[in-house]
Amino acid sequence: MPPPEGTIARPQDSGCHGGRETMREAARAAGKSAVLERLAADYPQGPHDQPQSMCPAFGSLRVGLRMRRVATILSGSACCVYGLTFTSHFYGARRSVGYVPFDSETLVTGQLFEDIRDAVRRTAQPDAYDAVVVINLCVPTASGVPLDLLPREIDGVRVIGIDVPGFGVPTHAEAKDVLAGAMLRYARREAEAGAVARPRAGLAEDRRVTLLGELFPADPPGVAAMLA
Ligand code: SF4
Repeated sequence: MPPPEGTIARPQDSGCHGGRETMREAARAAGKSAVLERLAADYPQGPHDQPQSMCPAFGSLRVGLRMRRVATILSGSACCVYGLTFTSHFYGARRSVGYVPFDSETLVTGQLFEDIRDAVRRTAQPDAYDAVVVINLCVPTASGVPLDLLPREIDGVRVIGIDVPGFGVPTHAEAKDVLAGAMLRYARREAEAGAVARPRAGLAEDRRVTLLGELFPADPPGVAAMLA
């Protein structure tokens, strides 16, 4: 519900129904203008926005949960995280989803960022993970929680923070793209910095084609036939 007349809207009072413009204003005031402009340029809004379906951030969460040796941590309101984790397990995630909760105090004092950083440090165990993905949902994005200030790497584990607010990303298809794009940017920087480690499984004699994207159950035979 929009805030009653004469009161000031705070991001922590808002959610899907808090008013997209209210959230955008809050995000701009919190220093996230560049993020909003990037999202608006990459994912034009239109009649397809936010159909009566899942929270857009589910796209990013799902991509993160499908990658080997990648941990995913959500930062957002408990009700959003409940819906997102419920749906991810409904779709067979079969692994934990990290969550950093907050309240009004940790949000306004900046403690939430410290809590996220601690969670990332605890999660970034090189024997278990190659990357940790942190996803800012609506309220932390509107409050300006600066995931770009997280360490880029901890003991060789890459740390990737993204803002995926429902008021800036039209559907979960675009949210998949947000995480895939962030990981590809990271990979490109690594490749430009020097030699990239050889695949653990070693190289086969035959030539290989690497495809990036989501596979649905019937895709592998079709892709194999196309390559053959
Ligand atoms: S994170 Fe998703 S569920 Fe939560 S308020 Fe934003 S759009 Fe709605």
